[in-house]
Amino acid sequence: MVVFFNGEFLEKENVAISPDDRGFLFADGVYDVVRAYRGRLFRWQEHLDRLAHGLKELRIEGVSLGGLEKIAFQLLKENGLEAAEATLYLQITRGATLRSHRFPPQGTIPTVYAEANPFTPPIELRKKGASAIIVPDERWGRCDIKTINLLPNTMANQRAFEAGAFEAIFARDGLLLEGSHSSILFVKDDALLCPPLTNFILPGITRNVVLSLASTESISVHIRPCLENEVAEFQEILMLGTTSEIVPITKVNGISVGTGVPGRIARKLQSAFRRITQELKSRS
Ligand code: PLP
Repeated sequence: MVVFFNGEFLEKENVAISPDDRGFLFADGVYDVVRAYRGRLFRWQEHLDRLAHGLKELRIEGVSLGGLEKIAFQLLKENGLEAAEATLYLQITRGATLRSHRFPPQGTIPTVYAEANPFTPPIELRKKGASAIIVPDERWGRCDIKTINLLPNTMANQRAFEAGAFEAIFARDGLLLEGSHSSILFVKDDALLCPPLTNFILPGITRNVVLSLASTESISVHIRPCLENEVAEFQEILMLGTTSEIVPITKVNGISVGTGVPGRIARKLQSAFRRITQELKSRS
């Protein structure tokens, strides 16, 4: 597998990341995951903008994001994924320097890594739905940045897995925020409820797409806090993400959501989402 590392395309096994890399030592970096539909990058600019936001907030300087698109296409090509379902993983860290809590000396070059992987869409999961558990949010106060510091997310996801569920939904001060690796929307009184963006929520690209699809599909949307103690009143819960797209959550903490099967709004939005990805795939 050919990957990109600090300006070079090389076999993955030949990548040598320094043990002094700030990503390795401090999880000091950002990442993003982008879907490629038959070689077409989905919402590339939005992912790039989110990376740029993260770099700015973490004060990581000296990376030019402009060249990443070309690198992404090259990776698809090098790995025979130009006409395939694929994902691109991009990661930038503050670079390698002698371990110190302080920022590295001026001029330290950030580490840039990217790889492309074949992807099998979770078709059954989208069709049948998945279950989730609610867990206390133990993350830091800047969840709006897509940092590589994902320990609370992986701990929560593992907890879900061990409970026989697919996703863990973070709750903080009685508010349901998002999943360990997804955005979460709710349906009540036939309207889509969307937790407002704060420092405790990642601005999901899929969430934005789905909100605009809701408007074209004439589904009412209310941006408002969603409460843990409202769970029994939700008709549907939707999990959203770059690789999941839209997965209905049919059970929370072992209890059925609504009728316990994927609901009407999830189905409608899934069809609308499929239309835009089909359109992207057929673009010449
Ligand atoms: N929230 C969190 C915590 C995530 O990790 C992700 C995706 O990885 C999302 C939301 C969904 O974001 P996107 O739709 O941009 O993939």
